[in-house]
Amino acid sequence: MSRFSKLYVEHKCPECKLKENFNIQFQYGELENHHYKLGSRVKWGENNKGKEDFQQVIVDGMGTCSLCKAVPGFILNITNNIISKVTLATSNSEAFEESGYTIL
Ligand SMILES: [Zn+2]
Repeated sequence: MSRFSKLYVEHKCPECKLKENFNIQFQYGELENHHYKLGSRVKWGENNKGKEDFQQVIVDGMGTCSLCKAVPGFILNITNNIISKVTLATSNSEAFEESGYTIL
């Protein structure tokens, strides 16, 4: 079973349209159940996904709305190892590689 890190962020749910505190699972950096917020620096260690010296990366994530149980996809922008932005995934985000992240 793969480990995930989590990003806690307030975001509007695409289904119920309410603001929700999402807990977005993603796999990038050290896969040791780290908890991050926007602006956090990605941690690196033994069991990594991606590389510390990548400058611009987008990472595939997924969160569950506790209000309506929707499971929207999210895209995390990571710039110089800082989680700088999170947006809802759109239909063209299928361009993601199987690794779960893409170097820009
Ligand atoms: Zn919702």
